[in-house]
Amino acid sequence: MRSQLFAAGLLTFATGLVFYVLEVPLVYFWSIPFAIVGGMMAVAAPFMSESHGPVEPPEGYRFCPYCSTIVPIGQKNCGHCGGAQPLEGAG
Ligand SMILES: [Zn+2]
Repeated sequence: MRSQLFAAGLLTFATGLVFYVLEVPLVYFWSIPFAIVGGMMAVAAPFMSESHGPVEPPEGYRFCPYCSTIVPIGQKNCGHCGGAQPLEGAG
């Protein structure tokens, strides 16, 4: 569920409705597409997975704390920046 997309969809839908009800010149033409697109966004949002949180390194690897390059666990130094890696299990 993408709550932000859902909210944006509802807002767009509401904007379209307002345009339609008020019959504002120029934007009245856009009220229908606004309502359709907004409705689609609101309807689709619950079916879209939430964007992923913090990125996880692949199995057996960790991110170098200095340059964020993927480094195999057990390797003492980063192959990119040469920074000493934290001890295994230290997080
Ligand atoms: Zn590094």
